Amino acid sequence: MSEPILTIVVPCYNEQEALPETISQLSNLLQALAMEQLVSNKSKILFVDDGSKDLTWQIIHKESLKNEWVAGLKLSRNAGHQNALLAGLFTAKDKADCVVSIDADLQDDISVIREFVLKFREGFDIVYGVREKRETDSFFKRSTAEGFYKLMKKMGVDLVYNHADFRLMSKRALHELERFEEVNLFLRGIVPLIGLRSASVLYDRKERMAGETKYPLRKMLAFAFDGITSFSVTPIRLVLLVGILSFLISFLFGCYFFALKITGNTTTGWTSLITSIWLIGGLQLIAIGLIGEYIGKIYKESKRRPRYIVELDSYSLPMSLLLKN
Ligand code: UDP
Ligand code: MG
Repeated sequence: MSEPILTIVVPCYNEQEALPETISQLSNLLQALAMEQLVSNKSKILFVDDGSKDLTWQIIHKESLKNEWVAGLKLSRNAGHQNALLAGLFTAKDKADCVVSIDADLQDDISVIREFVLKFREGFDIVYGVREKRETDSFFKRSTAEGFYKLMKKMGVDLVYNHADFRLMSKRALHELERFEEVNLFLRGIVPLIGLRSASVLYDRKERMAGETKYPLRKMLAFAFDGITSFSVTPIRLVLLVGILSFLISFLFGCYFFALKITGNTTTGWTSLITSIWLIGGLQLIAIGLIGEYIGKIYKESKRRPRYIVELDSYSLPMSLLLKN
């Protein structure tokens, strides 16, 4: 087997602080892997600028002119982490034999990429990077993540435990991934659905090297909620269950009050009335909101809007040629 072409896809959103270090570390890694003849020297690092507002693109652009390992993909606007990742994966899949995705802050141990490649050469199509410990994450992040995995499991979604988007995928796996046409793509849930030969490699996750997290609580919650509602209809079933339950309870209460009335012990009735109104009203709003969430998903899917728009692509055509056009 001749050396496979590896492409490392790195989504970047406002990463000017972290990028220079990331570029140099990943270039060195690729160089070393190529020297060892584990990967082809046509391998690349593909930085995807997800509509950054800082100097991220300028850094990528400058680097790709002088560093043969580096290529850049500029999205027309911020499409979000998952979509930026997809943009990179789908751009890379034509030229590369295997693609590794990793975050720009190098929280994931890049030396593991060598093991990914070894596994790929053994014939694995998907290799998951799995965090061994999460000591560097805050207690809050750790426990919310823990809860998320548990919840997903309860709802029948098969996630690889403690795996974020640090993984290797073969060309074949990427071609299969492309057949999942949903606009609202939750990669961590989809990739296990591809199946094929899969393996996991353990590593330790570090602290973010520079800059700050682009996933504040609000985005994290939205991400989790999206993950759940795009994979499972259990929440809607739960609502149905709660509805039935509350109906039964109010029915029993009704009987009780009726019995009181007959025996002459009339209550003023106000308290029970107002509580049940609020209770049922609340339940109804929750149910409507949840159903709305699913309908919203259907609405989004039915429009089939593009997940991202590429403005510049120096992976398919070198930057120096790109600029002449
Ligand atoms: N990112 C992106 N688009 C966004 C938000 C984040 O491409 O809209 C990138 C970001 O630059 C980083 C990766 O996604 O490379 C993960 O983000 P971050 O490290 O901030 O998340 P955390 O590790 O804190 O969950
Ligand atoms: Mg991070």
